[in-house]
Amino acid sequence: MSIEAGASDVVRTSQELERRLPEPLRPLGRIAYNYVWSWTLDGPSIFKDIDPYRWELFQGNPVRLLLDAPTTMLERAANDASVVARITELAARMDETLADAPHSATSPIAYFCAEFAIHRSLPIYSGGLGVLAGDFVKEASDRQVPLVGVGLFYRQGYFLQRLDLSGWQHEYWTDQDLERLPAVRVTRPDGTPLTVSVHVGERDVLAHIFRLNVGRSALFLLDTGLPENHPIDRWTTARLYESSRRIRLAQYAMLGIGGVRALEALGIEPGLIHMNEGHAALAALELARREVARGADFRTACARVRERVVFTTHTPVAAGNETYSAEELLAVFGDFAGRLGTSTDEFLGLGRCVPSHSYEQSGVTPLAIHMSRNVNAVSRRHGEVARSMWQSLYPGCTVDQVPITHVTNGVHLPTWMCPSMSRLFDRYLPPGWMAAAANPETWNAIESIPDDELWHARMFARSRLVDFVRARTVDDRLRRGEPIEYVEAAARTFNTDYLIVGFARRLATYKRLHLLTRNPARALSLLDGPRAVQLLLAGKAHPKDDEAKQIVRSMFALKSSPQVGNRVAFLENHDMEIEAMLVCGCDIWVNLPRPPQEASGTSGMKAAMNGVLNLSVLDGWWAEAYDGNNGWAIDGNIDSNEHAKDDRDSAALYDLLEKEIVPLYYEREGNLPRAWIRRMKAALRSLAPRYCASRMLADYERTVYASDRSELERVAYSSDGYAHE
Ligand SMILES: *Cc1c(COP(=O)(O)O)cnc(C)c1O
Repeated sequence: MSIEAGASDVVRTSQELERRLPEPLRPLGRIAYNYVWSWTLDGPSIFKDIDPYRWELFQGNPVRLLLDAPTTMLERAANDASVVARITELAARMDETLADAPHSATSPIAYFCAEFAIHRSLPIYSGGLGVLAGDFVKEASDRQVPLVGVGLFYRQGYFLQRLDLSGWQHEYWTDQDLERLPAVRVTRPDGTPLTVSVHVGERDVLAHIFRLNVGRSALFLLDTGLPENHPIDRWTTARLYESSRRIRLAQYAMLGIGGVRALEALGIEPGLIHMNEGHAALAALELARREVARGADFRTACARVRERVVFTTHTPVAAGNETYSAEELLAVFGDFAGRLGTSTDEFLGLGRCVPSHSYEQSGVTPLAIHMSRNVNAVSRRHGEVARSMWQSLYPGCTVDQVPITHVTNGVHLPTWMCPSMSRLFDRYLPPGWMAAAANPETWNAIESIPDDELWHARMFARSRLVDFVRARTVDDRLRRGEPIEYVEAAARTFNTDYLIVGFARRLATYKRLHLLTRNPARALSLLDGPRAVQLLLAGKAHPKDDEAKQIVRSMFALKSSPQVGNRVAFLENHDMEIEAMLVCGCDIWVNLPRPPQEASGTSGMKAAMNGVLNLSVLDGWWAEAYDGNNGWAIDGNIDSNEHAKDDRDSAALYDLLEKEIVPLYYEREGNLPRAWIRRMKAALRSLAPRYCASRMLADYERTVYASDRSELERVAYSSDGYAHE
């Protein structure tokens, strides 16, 4: 068995779906069970055209659409020759793609992560980490890198967001019907579900394994929502980022230990385990337990594990690097420590920065670092921050010697580039440009695109966004019970000619959304007048983060100003769909993290691929990407006086908008903002080849995955400056 484990279960289930469809639509059953449709030309539009209403209702879930669309709708599509021809073409395109198998189907990379953002209809992600993981799995598929993702199948996913009239966030959750997603329970030859079991606290917790096809990659998700489990244990895979610490530890046990056991049950022997963020750190301990069970002593077991485990750290923020007390850990893992053939203190020490400091709490990040062959951060600056943050794990190393390298994140172009842009690039860039996106020369031809054509592609994306925002905002305001005049303002909201500034991401406080309105008078005056600025906001605050919720509410207090109704919108329930609309349609993408807390950031990369200009603090990826011509920057210095830093940075933000960005945007020559377009071209040429996922994956292959030491050293001494060995 290999990467194909469980594939026959998917085939069987998709054939069942096919049999329910009118003959001409049958290929859709197969198409629906591989997410590659979502980044294949015409994939989304075919499903949408069959039943646009249910397509929206089901969040773009094709399995649900095909199961629940009324027969009349299906028959109508089946009798439409053009729809049938499109289906045939799409099926042929997908079959052609999938016919090229990964370069090697045995020993794949097993990529463990707590969240994956594959598509908006699969709500098992919260933000940047999940998007990175989803893009990684897709890019591996495109490049035929053998990879399986391992994660948890949260039935309730991440929360859905509603704001009330005061702007206060409320959370709610809905149950997914797992059987109506393109996810299939893996079975044994006798037809019963393949099951893994992990001892958590006092009980064995059982999980089923679901397989989801993501192009050539497979994603395996564990589900504990089984009647055999205690109700508390069923909750293990109920919600992403559960706030109960006890349940979180159970989640880490299921992801790490359960994930490794699932691979074993599936017959997959990974060549490498990639723990993407610390949530998966227990995978390494399960591998060590297996070595101990085969007779190795604990130290030897750890050394062997270290040869095949790599770890990526994704944030310097404390909430992403949780620590736990001995009592908390032993309550969940007491039994497990015994099976490692070591003392309790040595077990707990693996999670400490200094293992002998028994007063130190244990954390998942130190554990992952101790157990990994390679550790990397996700941007050059984050590499520096991580080396200094984790220096105590490397006694005798100066900060510069700490062997934590970096691979800067990148984004999956076919997922995040809007169709109007990629159609334009099809005409002007060399054939096969998408596959050659990591090569800077591919993008030289940007200069040959006539200004008016580039501008029209942007205008097209912007007007699509404006339509979307109007419709969403009317709905949001009606649902909140806003006065009808304010609802009506939403229908007029957003003029297609005015500059649009966007800000959307998780609303963690360090992302400093509040800088936008720190000086309300200046903010409001930007919205006014013949050179108006329009502002689009979206984002979810963690349910326990009242400070972040308070920031959104204080912005709502400005809503009584007349400009605000027409020029500002907060789109509720930020997700991949809203994100895709925004990063394609805005003119300026703003990011205001408090340095040095932004590990990378990826939303600005998505924006850059679409010709949207970044205005960002020089932190995360922007600290290495900004070159003076490809956007705008706010100083990235660290200041322990947060208040003073906030004042300065928000003043810098208003200054740039007032003095540079607004004038440049509205300065027209023959109806075109020529200087703006020059900047767009500079941004595309400098950023697209560097911040696409194909460059990222190639970097991982050369510097992190390469098992041959000589290869690692060769890379370290090459001149590209990626590696810090
Ligand atoms: C890309 C993305 C993010 C990441 O945004 P950052 O600005 O990098 O923090 C968060 N949420 C969603 C839904 C995204 O698509």
